[in-house]
Parts: sequence; structure tokens; C-alpha cells
Amino acid sequence: MNPIKRIGIILSVVFLIPVLFFSVYEISSLTKDERMIENIYQKQLEAILFSVNQYSDNTLSGWISKVESDYATHGNSGSLSEPMQLLLANTAIQMSFIIDTVEQRPTLKAFSFDSLRADSLRKPIETALSQNSSQIQQLIKYKRSGFQKAESIEAGWQRDEKFQLIIFIIESASGSHVAGLVINLENFIEDQIGPRLQIISKDQFILTAYNKKKNVTVYSTELRDTTSMNAALLTKDLWIFPDYALGIRTKGASLKQIVRERTTTNFILLVGLDVVLVVALILAFRSVKREVQLAQNKSDFVANVSHEIRTPLALISMFAETLELGRVKTEEKKQEYYSIISKETHRLTGIVNKILNFSQAEAGKKTLRIEEVSLQLEIREILKTYDFHLKNKGFEYYFHESQEVNVKADKAALTEIIINLIDNAIKYSGDKKRIEIQLSTELDAGVLAIKDFGLGISKENQKHIFDKFYRVSSGNLANSQGTGLGLSLVKQLIEQQNGRITVNSELGKGSTFLLYLPLVK
Ligand code: ADP
Repeated sequence: MNPIKRIGIILSVVFLIPVLFFSVYEISSLTKDERMIENIYQKQLEAILFSVNQYSDNTLSGWISKVESDYATHGNSGSLSEPMQLLLANTAIQMSFIIDTVEQRPTLKAFSFDSLRADSLRKPIETALSQNSSQIQQLIKYKRSGFQKAESIEAGWQRDEKFQLIIFIIESASGSHVAGLVINLENFIEDQIGPRLQIISKDQFILTAYNKKKNVTVYSTELRDTTSMNAALLTKDLWIFPDYALGIRTKGASLKQIVRERTTTNFILLVGLDVVLVVALILAFRSVKREVQLAQNKSDFVANVSHEIRTPLALISMFAETLELGRVKTEEKKQEYYSIISKETHRLTGIVNKILNFSQAEAGKKTLRIEEVSLQLEIREILKTYDFHLKNKGFEYYFHESQEVNVKADKAALTEIIINLIDNAIKYSGDKKRIEIQLSTELDAGVLAIKDFGLGISKENQKHIFDKFYRVSSGNLANSQGTGLGLSLVKQLIEQQNGRITVNSELGKGSTFLLYLPLVK
């Protein structure tokens, strides 16, 4: 397998997959946690409201027991002071009453500090009792089986909703008696439930009692609380007074909000971490890929260069030996051999120079002398020197001198760049032996285009040809000689002169290398 692919697979198996897996797991459990916390919280709120209801029930039971015990000790003949004491101690009790049978007739005996009110309530109570006789029978049954149950029943004064009629049964030697309490609900909530709510709220919760019918707040642990029932996180009816409800909500940010915020923060952190990790992995992979590629190119380079050097060396030593042994008879042949030796020596020198230039440029040891250079004159000069070489190789060349372009550049470096590009054009032109050179300007850059009509470069290879040691290793190009240093050197040199190089190329149609250099205004 390709080593780069392998590294990619290893990186993703070792880091990416476990982390992504973990993240997905965490994110899915975040919502689960959130739901669980909410659930627990809801239960807790329910428990709180339950305890308040329980407390109200207990209070009421206490009162009922008191009425029962008063009756047991004093009976219908008893003094008035006992029931009145209960009323005195609890302003929420508007009135208490008991139905006694006096001279064969059931009579409602009422106790109240407000006798006027008591008189006005008497009739509606009697009506309510007669309308709820089946309920009363039920209560008697309960009582006989030893269970004291109180019941809220509707009475005709319901227009004045703050009074609630509660009935229960008292057993005595003379039989079962219906007894009851008329409770002022607002007072009950204020005096009994209120202090309880205050204790529970403890700066954490806001507890509220509502009148459900009117949808108004009748009591709240928060001063001047005017919120409606909807604001509460949870509401429960008051068991004994079904028209009223208790509500609870948190002070400050609600737990739901806090949990939601935490979940969101955790979520963002997790996703952020994943993104960072993925980016880091991509970067790591890229740099590893680059290193592997470079190592590969380098080893290709060594093989290439050895080959490039061996060929001229072999030729030189062969012809030199032949000459040395005096086996060459004619002067003409000797001249031919000399010229081969000289040509191959030049080639060797060229290769060595290229390597030296490259390593100098790479180490940044090449100091450039930037001056005003006329591209036109520069190219003319190079072409003059190269004319023989180009024609000898069968090339036609055209220089379109439409305009004069002066740039800031180092002459020697520029010459080296242009020669490299022309050399490449010659090497990679195949049978289409034509080179065109053109000058132009673009914004504040002078542009030099060197165009060939040869083999061209694929899009994929265009990305790499400026890398050091890179050579196209497939197709027709594989056989041509080279070091893979030329374009890398060109790029370094042009960038040192504040310029840049780009390439336009199509496989099979040729390539245009464009050099941009800062214009002299
Ligand atoms: P070298 O020519 O020594 O191989 P270079 O750095 O000069 O190294 O070029 C890198 C690669 O770019 C070459 O191997 C070649 O495949 C491709 N290349 C460069 N110039 C041209 C061109 N004018 N036409 C087609 N391919 C080219």
C-alpha cells in the first residue's frame, strides 16, 4: 500500500475514530443526563408541594380532632367556651357548627364571633347538607369503620368564594352528628400555609398559592409577586380546597435553564474539540505527506543524478581512452572525439552547477543585486547566445517585442531563470519544436511568458512541479533526463526578487510559464 495512504488510515484509526465515537456517545448522553436531571428535579418539586398539602391536611385534621374532643367532653350541653377557643386561636375558621337533635328535631348549632355572618350562613349550610346526603352517609360509614374523613362541599354562598364548607362526622352516645367548619380560605392560606411556604422557599424557590378560578395569586413567598400560574414550573391543587393551587418555581435562573446552558456549553466544547482535532489531524497528515513525498523525491533525485552523471562520465572515459591508446587514425575522427568529450564535460558542469546553485539558493546564500533590468534587452541577449543551440535542436522561436518592459530584478538570477525555462521547453517539447516568448504588463508587474507546444503537464502534476526534486514520473516524460531541481530553483530565485511564477498547461498541447516581476514605474 502507498505509505501516505497507510499513514492516513493509521491516523484516523488511532485518533479520529475513537474521538468521534466518544463525542457522539457524549453528545447523546448529554440529552439523556439533561432529561434525567429534569426528572429528578420535577420529582423534588412534587415532593415539596406534596409536603405543603400534607401540612394543610394535618392542620385541618387537628382542628377536627379538637371539635370532636370538645364535643366528647361537653356534649351539646357543654359550655360555649371550648369551640370558641378554637375559633379564637385560628382566625381562618369563620365558624364551626354541629347538627344536634334537639327535641326530635335536627338543629344546627353554630359557633362564631360574627353572629350576623353565622346567621346568614346557616341556611345555605342546611341546604348544602340536604343536597349532599349521600356523601354524608359515606362519611358516617367511614367514621364507623374508624376513619375520620373530612369533605369539602359546595354551599350556596359560592359567590363569596373565600368561604369553604368542610364537613365531617362526630360519633357520640346519641349517634352520628354532622359537624363542620366554615373556613376563610384567604386567611387559611395566609396564616397556615404561608409560614410553611416561607420555611420551604429558603431563598431557592418561589412558592405561590393561586385562586384557580380567578387565576390570581393569593399568596407568594416573593414580595409583590404578580405572575400568573403559567410562570410556575409545577402546580398542584390544594387537596382540601380544590379551587386553589400551589405553584413552585426557582429563584433566578431555573434549573432547566442552568441544565440547558451547561448542556449547550458542553456540546459546543465537544464539537469545538472535535473540529480542532480534525484540523490538527489534517495538518499533521499534510505535513507527513509532504515529508514522505520529499523523501521519495530525494531518493529519485539521487538515482537520477547518478544516472545523469554516469552517462557523460562513461562517454568521456571511453573516448579519452581511445584517444590515449592512439587508435584513432584520422584527424577528423580525433576532432569528433574531442568535441564529444568537451560537450559531455559541459553537460557534467551544467549538472554540478545546477546542484550547487540550488543548494546555495536554498540556503539563502545567494545575494541578489536588484537593479532596473530591461526584459527586452535581457531576452534578446539570451536568445543571441542560445540561437545556435536552439536551431541545432531544430527549434523555431519567436520573440514578440511589442513593448518595452523594465523590472526590478537581479540580472544573473533572471538569466538563470529564463535559461532554465527555455531548457525545459526544449526538453519537454517532443516533436513540436516551437517556442514563443512574449512581454506584457499587468497592474504593477512586468510579465514574461515562455510558451512551448510540447507535452504539457497534467493538472495534478502542475501542483508539484515547483517542489524540490519533483519530476513527472509517468508518460513520455519519464525517459527524459533531469534532476527535478530546475523549477524549484526558478521559484526560489523569482520569489527572492519579489516576483512569482505560474504555469498554464494542458497535457499534449504545451505549457506557458509566466514570470511576474515588479515593474519600474
Ligand atoms: P527536471 O527538468 O530536471 O526534471 P524541473 O524542476 O525543471 O526538473 O521540472 C520538473 C518537472 O516539470 C519535469 O520533470 C517535467 O516533468 C515538468 N516540466 C517542466 N517544464 C516543463 C515543460 N515546459 N513542459 C512539460 N513539462 C515540464
